[in-house]
Amino acid sequence: MKITDAKVIVCSPGRNFVTLKIYTDQGIYGLGDATLNGRELAVAKYLEEYCIPALKGRNPLNIEDIWHYFYRGVYWKRGAVTMTALSAIDMALWDIKGKMLNTPLYNLLGGKSRNKVLVYAHSNGIDLDHALESVAQELDKGFKAIRVQSGIPGLDHTYGVAQKGEKYEPATKGLPREDFWDTHKYLNWAPKLFSKVREHFGEDLLLLHDVHHRLTPIEAARLGKELEPFHLFWMEDAVTGELQEGFRVVRQHTTTPLAIGEVFNSVYDYTTLISEQLIDFVRMPIVHGGGITHLQKVAAFASIYHVQTGFHGATDLSPINMAAALHFDFAINNFGIQEYMPHEEIVNEVFKINYRFEEGYMYIDDTPGIGVDLDEKAAQKFPYIPASLPVNRKTDGTLFYW
Ligand SMILES: [Mg+2]
Repeated sequence: MKITDAKVIVCSPGRNFVTLKIYTDQGIYGLGDATLNGRELAVAKYLEEYCIPALKGRNPLNIEDIWHYFYRGVYWKRGAVTMTALSAIDMALWDIKGKMLNTPLYNLLGGKSRNKVLVYAHSNGIDLDHALESVAQELDKGFKAIRVQSGIPGLDHTYGVAQKGEKYEPATKGLPREDFWDTHKYLNWAPKLFSKVREHFGEDLLLLHDVHHRLTPIEAARLGKELEPFHLFWMEDAVTGELQEGFRVVRQHTTTPLAIGEVFNSVYDYTTLISEQLIDFVRMPIVHGGGITHLQKVAAFASIYHVQTGFHGATDLSPINMAAALHFDFAINNFGIQEYMPHEEIVNEVFKINYRFEEGYMYIDDTPGIGVDLDEKAAQKFPYIPASLPVNRKTDGTLFYW
């Protein structure tokens, strides 16, 4: 079997997606997600200029060798753009292998370890009442686990919160919008929010919260400690992950479980965090973390240290990534939870999906490979629209983490 050609498809059904399609001499093709929100064309160009010419003629079944060709074989390793491109190649190759063997991807990863995949929803509100309303709506849909974010009294706008009646969507057309942040107000507010959520909805609901990299280690330690009475499933991205040792401070002070890594792209972002048992969940998604081949190694490494997976699954990742993640979630033993934000209906005009949500869990059908297809004609109707994630400043104007 040989790779004959490959191409990159960029489309924007409501938001931008980049897809790699690899063709073979046996009429089978594979699809991989290459979407990097706000930097889409950098990945598209990297694939077109540097990867596709080197893919032609290779045997697509030799996934491990091809993975190392584009990782070890490249002098300029790692980084979000490079690793997203490599992820797309890897996903497409696993898709081809599944189609060639006429079996769904999870069978190639060891088969099913569970009957259904627990997912968590997003709820958010501009204030407390609105946030409680939003949690009730997600419970009505059947979710058993819910991430709760809310507006912070005294701040105009904050991460994770939509205007009333709208869907939360941080990427906006053109250059980045500017948000504002006040750590003091946030730290005073977050425990009150979760106290009210528990009071209203009881102990059974699994609760998650995303700090979005906005605290120092000692501030995160305080928040984790103050959230302990509300038994969170996890506190996410409490501190930016560049300084892995920073999590030692957080860990010393709180038993609130910690998740991190949606912006990571290599196992080397995790070595201290996992081996010192400083975290509980890895979030690096298949689309940015070197694909299935690399995530298998990360998940195996994590499993030794009782660390589980909880992959990023926001709507800025395409349905191809979602399906690949679900196969992976079904297959591994140390699966924890999967983030699930349903795509807008318009996305289904381009992508034909093979998964469904029911009563808090996801299910996937037995379509061979990853199982998601892309309608190229439909994709052409939605040309690329430049969009950016916001930047964030403290209220005095200091540039801060978004
Ligand atoms: Mg997050």
